[in-house]
Amino acid sequence: MNASQPGEPPLPNLNRPLALDRDRLSATTPKNCIPGNLLFQWHITERCNLRCAHCYQDQSLGSELPRDGLLAIHEQYLRLLEQWRKAGNRVRGHVTVTGGEPFTHRDFEVLLECLANHHQAHTFGILTNGVLIDPPRARWLRKLRPAFVQVSLDGLPETHDRLRGAGNFHEVLKGISHLRKAGIYTVVSFTAQRGNFREFPQLVEIVRRYRVNRIWADRLIPAGNAASLRDPMLDAEETREFFNLMLQAREKAASHWWFRTEVSMHRALQFLVGGGHPYHCTAGYSLLTVMPNGDVYPCRRMPILVGNLLQTPLPELYHDSPVLRQLRDKTRLGENCRHCLHRAACRGGLKCLAYATTGDPFQGDPGCWLLQPRAGADRFQAGGRAASISNGTNCCSASLVSKKEAD
Ligand code: SF4
Ligand code: SF4
Repeated sequence: MNASQPGEPPLPNLNRPLALDRDRLSATTPKNCIPGNLLFQWHITERCNLRCAHCYQDQSLGSELPRDGLLAIHEQYLRLLEQWRKAGNRVRGHVTVTGGEPFTHRDFEVLLECLANHHQAHTFGILTNGVLIDPPRARWLRKLRPAFVQVSLDGLPETHDRLRGAGNFHEVLKGISHLRKAGIYTVVSFTAQRGNFREFPQLVEIVRRYRVNRIWADRLIPAGNAASLRDPMLDAEETREFFNLMLQAREKAASHWWFRTEVSMHRALQFLVGGGHPYHCTAGYSLLTVMPNGDVYPCRRMPILVGNLLQTPLPELYHDSPVLRQLRDKTRLGENCRHCLHRAACRGGLKCLAYATTGDPFQGDPGCWLLQPRAGADRFQAGGRAASISNGTNCCSASLVSKKEAD
């Protein structure tokens, strides 16, 4: 399901294969590249006890693997890490288990205990909506030593409940409270959209009181259940405003010794406002996503089918997939980013947002206020409003010149 709203331009067909440039592929993407770490984001089920408006799951309950299938996939991941390490590479492994809601999978606990038994090979974390976490579950999780448990909060109670269901905000806070009492490193994620992004600073104040260790935020991607939600997407000026709000919240947190919650700004384009090490898309290089039936995507937010682990072994998919190899190509940038001074570090911002809105992940992040419009092409419009980038004053090089002049 990928329907646009009446009066809007049609959304791209996201099921079509990526255009493949074979010459470029062989020239710039070494077949046997090995990452320094491999994050395996594993959606073990589509089932969920909630129905959130902006969920990336498409709500179709496809097949999910029972215990033996889960353990076989984990074995493939272990073997790939071992193969790379035996060849003399230092590769860190990390598995993030999620869903749907992972606690609804009947073999979730078996899988987590298996992951916990392989602490030498990789760390692991859990993404959950948090409402199924009670004190005994939190104590059990603590024994398994996850690197973190992450839950989502998408605004103040009224906004969050509108998106995720009545009463959910307080249920999530209860889950957070149990996690923190058990001493588990707890992360809150926030999905920014037009209707909630200005609530972020107040949300930081709330999660601070619950001693959440870290809060981070990324922008809504119109994919999965959210594919028809163009209106709530931030345009470029809203994106910049949001990052400034994040920066203020981060600086406030850093200025008080009693403020134990880190406001993290390590997502796409956030370095433009918050400084620090720039984020670039790692999908297909140090990030792979596995779906409940064994399908592999570069990233959950970029649902391009790479293959299936029940049919093709992981090393083969990782090294041979044309899709993954193109995504690893550092030189592949859209026209819009070609002249940007940040292009080497940023590599086009949120590739998933470019993919969701144009069908081409290499087009440059539509929320970037430095992006130059392609000649002859309309700038992406979020929510029917122009993303307020025009030729000249707001383009990347022009804004850098005017900053120098202002200095
Ligand atoms: S113009 Fe492109 S490379 Fe430059 S900051 Fe924006 S998205 Fe990144
Ligand atoms: S930019 Fe998007 S596709 Fe790439 S790793 Fe980040 S979330 Fe995934």
